[in-house]
Amino acid sequence: MEAQRHRCGYCELQVTSYGDVEHYRPKSEIKQLEAVGEEQENLHNLVSKSRKTSKMCEDGYWWLAYDWDNYLLSCTLCNRPYKGTLFPIKEQRPVHPDPASEYPCENPKQGDQETPLLMNPFDPNLAPSEHLEFTESGLIKHKTDTGKETIDTLGLSRDSLNTGRIWAAKKIFQYFKNFASAAPGSDAEKLFASEIVSMGNETSIASPGMCRIIYENLVDGQGTWEAFENKWKVD
Ligand SMILES: [Zn+2]
Repeated sequence: MEAQRHRCGYCELQVTSYGDVEHYRPKSEIKQLEAVGEEQENLHNLVSKSRKTSKMCEDGYWWLAYDWDNYLLSCTLCNRPYKGTLFPIKEQRPVHPDPASEYPCENPKQGDQETPLLMNPFDPNLAPSEHLEFTESGLIKHKTDTGKETIDTLGLSRDSLNTGRIWAAKKIFQYFKNFASAAPGSDAEKLFASEIVSMGNETSIASPGMCRIIYENLVDGQGTWEAFENKWKVD
């Protein structure tokens, strides 16, 4: 919880006393997503029956069951009805030699090379803004296959998350507009930069990951969040 500032590694909501130790690579079995379904109105802890998954492999990445790098603190909702034992990869999983088997794929093997299509917040090479973007009203959109699979696997476009992001998304777009139109070197420029920094800061009560992604998409590859924060943070 300390390592993740008490936030869900997938949806960034605060995880207080409850939360799950989620296995990024499933330890027991692997499922595939067949239909994303949708959150039931007014029952945010349930996903509609239209969400469908099926089992691909009988055993998962069992050797990572106790691997610290395979753990993520996750909220119960992201973990249980959504992520579960899903783990999309770019490659085709090897087909099971017995066509009559109820498991269509071979189990993964230790040391296999594969390209996950599920974003891992601890991946040092991950640049979330390359895969995701947000609208001014907080709707999440994908830019790549990895972005799409991540949203679908975790239900990141569910209504309760969209609603919770509206305030912060509107604010960050507005602050950025004000910042960009302020005279260079002015107090206004400094003020709006510090507002942006405080929203994307690791201690922010807003959705800091979303704010960082919005910033990087607004500057369209002309700068990273890290550089902006280093330049404008107030010590
Ligand atoms: Zn979550």
